[in-house]
Amino acid sequence: GYHRVLEENRKLYNQVQDLKGNIRVYCRVRPSLGGRSDFKSVVDSIEEGTITINTPAKYGKGSRSFNFNKVFGPSSTQAEVFADTRPLIRSVLDGYNVCIFAYGQTGSGKTHTMVNILSDFYKLYKIVSHAKYLDKTWTKHTGPKDLTETSQGVNYRALSDLFFIAEQRKDTLQYDVSVQMIEIYNEQVRDLLVTEEIRNNSQNGFNVPDASLVHVASMYDVIDLMKLGHKNRAVGATALNDRSSRSHSCLTVHVQGRDVTSGAVLRGCMHLVDLAGSERVDKSEVAGDRLKEAQHINKSLSALGDVISSLAQKNVHVPYRNSKLTQLLQDSLGGQAKTLMFVHISPELNAVGETLSTLKFAERVATVELGAAQVHKDTSSDVKDLKEQIANLKAALAKK
Ligand code: ADP
Ligand code: MG
Repeated sequence: GYHRVLEENRKLYNQVQDLKGNIRVYCRVRPSLGGRSDFKSVVDSIEEGTITINTPAKYGKGSRSFNFNKVFGPSSTQAEVFADTRPLIRSVLDGYNVCIFAYGQTGSGKTHTMVNILSDFYKLYKIVSHAKYLDKTWTKHTGPKDLTETSQGVNYRALSDLFFIAEQRKDTLQYDVSVQMIEIYNEQVRDLLVTEEIRNNSQNGFNVPDASLVHVASMYDVIDLMKLGHKNRAVGATALNDRSSRSHSCLTVHVQGRDVTSGAVLRGCMHLVDLAGSERVDKSEVAGDRLKEAQHINKSLSALGDVISSLAQKNVHVPYRNSKLTQLLQDSLGGQAKTLMFVHISPELNAVGETLSTLKFAERVATVELGAAQVHKDTSSDVKDLKEQIANLKAALAKK
């Protein structure tokens, strides 16, 4: 009897999970960087999808909990974080559009999650060049084997996986992969893949038609391009003004798969976005360029929030055109597209104000997911009810 009920509950629970919409929100907490053993994190606890923050007096002393699809604690590895992203890579190859964001204040770990290949990039590049030469430790499609458990971020892992799956499917589907890399700074789009050698390869139908679209055949090519993009991005930065934290950067992957027998073609696209720092800038303290940057960032991040809420409400008019960022992502937000937001927070007390507003923003996005599922009942309380029922049944079973 009990087992049947348990099974039934599990089925119901899975159904509720399936009803969820296409926006998932994961929270990641950066470790403390000081390395002090007496460090006191503002994070009180992490339990599956729930994170609880200790709020200091200034924010109403006590604690506040936030719910997400998952929370990754400070000791989570790059591989663990990527594991949940994997199904999305498969979706791209199945012809879906996918969008993966990193959101959070400057210094909270966005670039670490997405593009960390760059921090040990030159080391990696040396190994790659060497392996290319030896052609032994290197597997053409997936990258150097011995580096798979290191610090590379989502961008690198996503492309590596993509090539891996494409290779597995090659007898039935032939894939063609090309990438774009752009930066949006003060509402201006800059192509990060320009060189003398790469010809501007514009095609109709892409959202940034003027940005170079470069064909890539393997991880060799991808690494070359990541290096080029990184170099070009650094050009705009000065010592005083870390431009990378005030601009959005986006790696876009276009995939075309041709069915070997029927000749039918499917298209998928994936945007991997490292957003500008979400911190609010104290208007009394900034002027000139800094103020202009802050206004542009605020504008584009709130435009993103508006698009997401509008999608959730099933509005006929979705305000994609209010910012360059949402324009770029238009085809990959809403509809059949799948969206994942990594929300980053710092564990330090001096960042708690920003941490709380980041979590509030993210929570708003996370609840949108239930709205987008088009169910006319409160699924979050359903899940809670079912969890309670399961707990009760487990307790009853334990007593037997
Ligand atoms: P953001 O891009 O949000 O400004 P970064 O990714 O540059 O932040 O991270 C700030 C610093 O913290 C960097 O030195 C980075 O290497 C480090 N860092 C961030 N997240 C982690 C993590 N999960 N583990 C170890 N170091 C991290
Ligand atoms: Mg960054």
